[in-house]
Formats: sequence, structure tokens, C-alpha cells
Amino acid sequence: MVVSMDGLSEAERDSLGGLPNFSAFLRRGTGIGSIETLYPSLTYVVHATMMTGRYPDGHGIDHNHPLQPGIPANHQRWYWYARELRIPTLFDIAKAAGLRTAAVLWPLTAGARIDWNFPEIAALPGENQTLKVLRSGSAAWLLALQLRFGRYRRGSEQPALDDFVSRCAADTIRRKRPRLLMTHLIALDDAKHRYGSDAPQTSAALKSLDVCLGRIVAAIDDSGLTPQTDVVVLGDHGHIDTRRLVRLNRLLVVAGLAGVQEPSGPTAPSSDRGSRVKSAVPGKDLPVWRAWFRCSGGSAYLHVRPGDTAAEIQVREIARKASRDASLGIAAIHTGAGLAGLRTGSGSLCALDAMPGFRFIEELDGPLVEDAPEPGAFGADHGYPAGAEEYRSLFMAAGNGLRQGADPGLFAMVDVAPTLARLLGLKFEACDGTSLDAILP
Ligand SMILES: [Zn+2]
Repeated sequence: MVVSMDGLSEAERDSLGGLPNFSAFLRRGTGIGSIETLYPSLTYVVHATMMTGRYPDGHGIDHNHPLQPGIPANHQRWYWYARELRIPTLFDIAKAAGLRTAAVLWPLTAGARIDWNFPEIAALPGENQTLKVLRSGSAAWLLALQLRFGRYRRGSEQPALDDFVSRCAADTIRRKRPRLLMTHLIALDDAKHRYGSDAPQTSAALKSLDVCLGRIVAAIDDSGLTPQTDVVVLGDHGHIDTRRLVRLNRLLVVAGLAGVQEPSGPTAPSSDRGSRVKSAVPGKDLPVWRAWFRCSGGSAYLHVRPGDTAAEIQVREIARKASRDASLGIAAIHTGAGLAGLRTGSGSLCALDAMPGFRFIEELDGPLVEDAPEPGAFGADHGYPAGAEEYRSLFMAAGNGLRQGADPGLFAMVDVAPTLARLLGLKFEACDGTSLDAILP
């Protein structure tokens, strides 16, 4: 059983011992290990690695969403579908070995070959959420879960969603007894994004995760599955509080390289640094772009239309100049071999790191930079390069397949999948990581 707690990081390490279910889990499991996250440290990139053991250039998920210049965030499609992955996942190799599998709100599972599949997928404006989930998951089982536990859910509101998801996971363990179940809880990440790392709502979210963990462990115990079940709890990235928003694409608007053309209106790009150039509304406006910053909060990819050499020369100069402007908070620019070394496979011209507290966002609407009116007003974000100690994710595990009290130490995100595979008695054909022998018997 794998429980991914989105955003669980070193920031939470000292609080876990004071929570009843985490502390009980740790008493019977390994110590708390640290995972160095990936580049870019986005949820879908990391979850793809958790279930494949490959870097993004191997599994093909380079961001939460594909490149969609000019499209507002709530209209952008994400990498929801399993078909976006280039290689087999832990679900695939488990299924091939004849093991029963279940996913409860695990990213990148829409349309996957999983016995009981509740995919994480969102309706775009004009789409029906329920139909979209039913079409891409195990419809009959999903309807049964909705009937049993739907009253606990209020759309995507947290912590009600995690409450619902953990009830679904516990019920699936009791009724279906899958050999592999992977579930994704989001309340902590949600609270940090909204309120910041140190907000009371963030502490409350951690407490709600403790309740969810207790519920899942109780389902395993009640079902008599404890002797043959290993439970892994882990996070995907840390968060850093946002002091300033940076709308990098405004630099491209000013240079005439990006904007929106309204079908009947005047032609953008414009040279205005203000807010006249709006993001596109799909079906109404036509995004016009020759270059685009695909932003990840703490980092960004700079893309140029293939073959547009003139734009490429222009944006290299724009990026160089921007990196010397301290107000934009660009910590580093990766190109050539440095970019390849990040293993993103993104096909971008370069990648930019943000300084801590600066957040790169894609939207065109609004000023180039915008400061938080008060601390915590813009919440926190991730996407920053791995490395800082407080930004590492946590890992802990318990079960007969693990050495009680063993210290997992510090390891790489690519080591998670081969470790999970070994717990199931399986192996990946190709993998960038190695299993954590320190915690395995
Ligand atoms: Zn995440």
C-alpha cells in the first residue's frame, strides 16, 4: 500500500511524533527518511517517477501539463492519462505478474489497466466531472464508492476530499484485498498553496492526514492483512512561501513574441507592459506565440516554436537580460549540457530557476511583478530545484517486508519505484534508481 501525501516534507518531520497515527506507524516501521525531489518538482512529474523509477526524460512527463501557450490555468489540460507515459509503471508490472491492483486518486492513471481505478482527472470548463471520471476509471466500482461515501465529499474541497479518498481506499482494502494499492492525499499541499507553510490551516491539514493514515492502517489490520502488507508513506516535494509573483511571459509580450489575437478584434502582441493583453479563452481567442515560458512556480521552461531561429536569438537575449534584473528573481539559467543534466526531456530551449520566494507564473493578465501585500497572502508553491534540505520530501514505511527501526537516510526519488517493486517481489526492466537495501531484509 502506497500513500502519497502531497507536499509532505522536512517541514513536517518534527510534528509527526505528536500525531497519534503517524507516531504509531513509526513505532512499528522504519525511521523517517528524506527524498531528494526531481526537476521540476511538480506533482505529476514526481508521481510518474514514483511509479516508474525513471527521470522525466525516460517516462515522458516533464511537467504537470503539456505546453499550452496563452491558455488560462483552469482551461489547461494536464497529463491525466496513463497513455502519456512512455514506459510501464508499477501498476503494469504488477498486473503482468498477476497481482490485483488499485489506484485511488493517483495521478496519471486515467484509462490505465488497473483492476480498481479511481483516476485523478479534472473537468475542463463545459465538461462534466462525474462523467469524465467514470469514463476513464472503473465505473461500477466508482459508483459503489460514491453511494457509500459520497456524502463525505464536497467537490474538490479539502480536507473533505481526502476524507472521502481515504474512506474509498480503506473500503477497497477491505472488500477487494488488492496486492498493490496506491493513493494520493492532497490536503496538505492544498493548504500550503493557499495559506503558506506555517499557517494554522496547514497544521490542521497535517492532522487530517494523520486521521486518513489511521483509517487506512485500521482497514489493513481489520482485514487480517497486516502480516503480508507493507505500507509506504511519502511526499513528493516541499513548498516555499511566495513573496513575489513574476509573470515571465510579459517579457515576451513586450518583445512581440507572445499574446492573444481576438477573432474580430485588434491584433496582439502589443508593446504595452500593462494588462491589456489577456490570456486566451479557448474557442474565442487565438493565442499568438513564437516563444513561451511554461512555468512551474519555482522554475520555468523557455520554449520557442521549432525552426524559428530569429525568435530563438531574441529570447536568448531576453533571458540573459532578465537574469541580470534582480527584481525578477532568476537564480540560474540552464542550457545545453546543463539542461540535459536535469533529465527533464522537455525539449525547451532553456530552464530557469527561481530564487526562494519568487514564483514564476504563466498568465499574461497582470503586471510583470507583483508583491504579496502581506506575508502569506500568496501562500506557498513548489517547482523549485531540489537541493535545499528543508525542501526534501519525507519517507517512512512499515510491514514485515521492512526492517523495523532502520534508517532510510537520504535517497533519490528514482529509488522509490524499485523499492516498491522489490516489496512486491518484482523488478523493473530498466530503471534509473536502485532499491533501498538499508530498509529491506
Ligand atoms: Zn505535489
